[in-house]
Amino acid sequence: MKLARFDGGRIGVVRDATIFDVSAICGVDPGEWPPVGMVRTIARWPELRPKIEAALTGARGTPLADVRLETPDPWPNKLLALPSNFQDHADEMRGRPYAKAGGKDEGFFMKANSSMIGPADAIALPAGLEGREFHHECELAIVIGTRGRDVPVERALEHVFGYACLIDVTMRGLEERVMRKSYETFCPVGPWITTADEVGDPFDIDMRLWVNGELRQHSQPAKMKVGIAQAIAMSSAVTTLEPGDIIASGTMAGVGPLVAGDEVTIEIDRVGKMRLPVVSAAVPA
Ligand code: MN
Repeated sequence: MKLARFDGGRIGVVRDATIFDVSAICGVDPGEWPPVGMVRTIARWPELRPKIEAALTGARGTPLADVRLETPDPWPNKLLALPSNFQDHADEMRGRPYAKAGGKDEGFFMKANSSMIGPADAIALPAGLEGREFHHECELAIVIGTRGRDVPVERALEHVFGYACLIDVTMRGLEERVMRKSYETFCPVGPWITTADEVGDPFDIDMRLWVNGELRQHSQPAKMKVGIAQAIAMSSAVTTLEPGDIIASGTMAGVGPLVAGDEVTIEIDRVGKMRLPVVSAAVPA
């Protein structure tokens, strides 16, 4: 199932080119603050799923083109991310200042939840930072379904709710990684969450990213140094993973600059596809 958020916090199920509003079934008030409706929907999924499936039988939806999709899971307890998790990306970064200065590529880091945007939004490069490089990183978002602490690797995939496309936009430099990756709009996630059962085996799915139609990045989760299950085991050894938490997979070779006027497209097999413009932010950083 493809679970989306749209038109000001509504929860929807996407089937082909149609979206079905299931906010009421999920008990979600679209205007609520904080916007934790998707987190609660994920936490209650075993109970909600059969109700949603029953309600969809014979239901008339809305054309997907007539709604505005939002990032599906805007208020997780945690947005974790794996650094330099594909060997070909580690290789391409080796000569850069961060690596030369002894920057570490182990464990995980975090991005601010507030950096997340959806498929109808724009990546806004901060003004006043001319001369700095901003890169795209094509990643898989792993969305946690059930709480877990010290999850063993062999049980880790049971904790996955689903997957989404994620672009880890990054300002290169020597400042703390969390800051460089947390600017507003620096984490497009979407276009929806595809549940794990619909994705099936995630290891061989193609992850691709284009800039202005040119293919820049292409790999598969099978090439992650820390795999999906290992990432869940590692992060749950440190933190309690909660329903709705997101882990970004890390990226493969081919990262490169984004400038205002670019259009970036990410597509992951059986997960989804989204295309976002890159603009200049009006507010100096
Ligand atoms: Mn990354």
